[in-house]
Amino acid sequence: MTQHILVINAGSSSIKYQLIDVATGVRQTSGLAERIGEGLGRVKHESDGREFEWQTEIADHTEAFAQMARGFADAGTPLDTLDLAAVGHRVVQGGSEFLTATLIDDHVAERILALSDLAPLHNPANYSAIVAARAAFADVPHVAVFDTSFHQTLPEAAYSYAIAPEVAAQYGVRRYGFHGISHQVVSQRAAELLGRPLTELKQIVLHLGNGASACAVDGGRSVDTSMGLTPLEGLVMGTRSGDIDPGALLHLMRAGLSVEALDRLLNKQSGLLGLGGSNDMRDIRAGVAAGDPAARLAFDIYVRRLKHYIGAYLALLGGVDTIVFTAGVGENHAPMREAVCSGLEWLGIEIDPVRNESPDRGARVVSSDASRVAILVVPTDEEAEIARQAAEVTAR
Ligand code: AMP
Repeated sequence: MTQHILVINAGSSSIKYQLIDVATGVRQTSGLAERIGEGLGRVKHESDGREFEWQTEIADHTEAFAQMARGFADAGTPLDTLDLAAVGHRVVQGGSEFLTATLIDDHVAERILALSDLAPLHNPANYSAIVAARAAFADVPHVAVFDTSFHQTLPEAAYSYAIAPEVAAQYGVRRYGFHGISHQVVSQRAAELLGRPLTELKQIVLHLGNGASACAVDGGRSVDTSMGLTPLEGLVMGTRSGDIDPGALLHLMRAGLSVEALDRLLNKQSGLLGLGGSNDMRDIRAGVAAGDPAARLAFDIYVRRLKHYIGAYLALLGGVDTIVFTAGVGENHAPMREAVCSGLEWLGIEIDPVRNESPDRGARVVSSDASRVAILVVPTDEEAEIARQAAEVTAR
């Protein structure tokens, strides 16, 4: 019988799930329960090309799993007929204690909750989903796969901020980095595409989705990354500012902005949305085409910030074999890739305009044959990676 891993990606008001075949890594079912605890919710279940969708009140994560079970039953594949090898949970913050994917017991679940201080938006939701899923699938091993683990290889000089060490230690202030599951699977697939051992490659991976981060990967290990204590630092994102002078925050607080107002400003109202009126790069692109100066500025700041990080990581890595674009913007927005790489030809980084504009969707090379650095587009697949890691942990 085919063994499956159920992958759970829970937010505070939604649960996304996928059923993945352990042997082949193929996704057989995917679904979403959203607006949990927000009145009338929506459930969408997709299996073998068939879609099931309905609306109902979803009071909490436990009810969301009951609705998910209904989706599987409606599709003719009730959960108890599937041979579940494990449930893999995406967990955003693993702090300094979870270095790899980890089998969940009561203690591990409590530690994930305890790390909520460092990820107040994410870890409580991850915890609630873990509790509900362990109750729903009591006989199956549950595995936590962390967004931070891949960055546990950062050297001390990369993860430390230049503040007094006692203060940093007291409050747990250090760079953790995020999107680790994506950076890991994308850097692995980039090596496969190039037909070279991962251990020999210096890579700059640019995960450009609604959230965005850059990662310097040396021989398969993360050695620097742009997100920090929280997923707010670094690149310009859909609604997040990325880097900003911390003195500006003090200035705004002294001017009377509350902590909550600052949090909203920086996390929800900044980035492409704050600058250009939409968090979606497609709208920014349409604005640029229509001659909107705000959209143009948003695009330019986005590209400029990326160049800052590419320059920094080239220096830190001592050269690079490949620059890899992934996630919504990175995979789909050719003009942005072109703008980021333009002017870097003197470094041996040369994009091929025809390859870059090609409508291909798979992992592909978009640099010219003359380019010393391979420029790649590699679709991310965080769920497949969560399934892979969950299978690895349970096989031990
Ligand atoms: P993700 O978080 O990886 O799902 O990325 C979502 C983001 O990708 C959206 O908010 C858009 O900014 C961007 N995106 C998706 N499709 C396209 C596209 N065809 N062209 C440009 N940007 C896109």
